[in-house]
Amino acid sequence: MQLQKITHITGTIKLLTGLHIGGGDAALEIGGLDQPIIKHPLTGEPYIPGSSLKGKMRSLLEVKYNKLKGDGGPCDCGKCIVCCLFGFSGAEKSKTKIGPTRILVRDAYMTEKWKNEFRNGDLPMEIKYENVINRIKGTAENPRPLERVPAGVEFDFNISVRLFDLDGQNKNNILTAIKQAMALLELDALGGCGSRGCGQIKFCNVRIDEEEVKYEHLQEALKADVPVGLQSENGD
Ligand SMILES: [Zn+2]
Repeated sequence: MQLQKITHITGTIKLLTGLHIGGGDAALEIGGLDQPIIKHPLTGEPYIPGSSLKGKMRSLLEVKYNKLKGDGGPCDCGKCIVCCLFGFSGAEKSKTKIGPTRILVRDAYMTEKWKNEFRNGDLPMEIKYENVINRIKGTAENPRPLERVPAGVEFDFNISVRLFDLDGQNKNNILTAIKQAMALLELDALGGCGSRGCGQIKFCNVRIDEEEVKYEHLQEALKADVPVGLQSENGD
């Protein structure tokens, strides 16, 4: 199997609503926020971990292609478009000819403009108070502060796609499935508290190897038919 091409999908992610991607155990610090967001350990700047983006894209495609396992775990069939794109673990690995994970999603950092705002102290993070309603008494209890990156902030994203000789006719399917995952993400939400309105995003200025992808094309990709079970050209 030979690597033929690495395709780069780039652009910006614009927050339409506040984004909360949890940052772990800062709550243990004295006076720390209950629900802080993840920040770069050196600069303190908020960012979107590639693993968050990739994980969400994967689970949305799994739902679309009915590949979510009964226990909610990621698909590990080793034969489908999701396993091809995002990789899989398990015993099937040695038996499949699907090849290595195709997609690499890098951490998305704020665009220069927003980095400057942040460094100048003009971009405070937003604190949203979430009331927990006691359904029996009908009263609000224990407001929990939720930290969010405010709406409007933009991040540069970068997705690399490795295409192999064995992909043959599947190259278009692979790229279409990635566009579908991006379109589904726009219809869903990134990070936590999506059901309460957080994490609505829009992909802007999308380019595939420098070629502009018209905005409508992302959503149009959802109408395309991608065969769920991928067969490599020299596969079974
Ligand atoms: Zn699979």
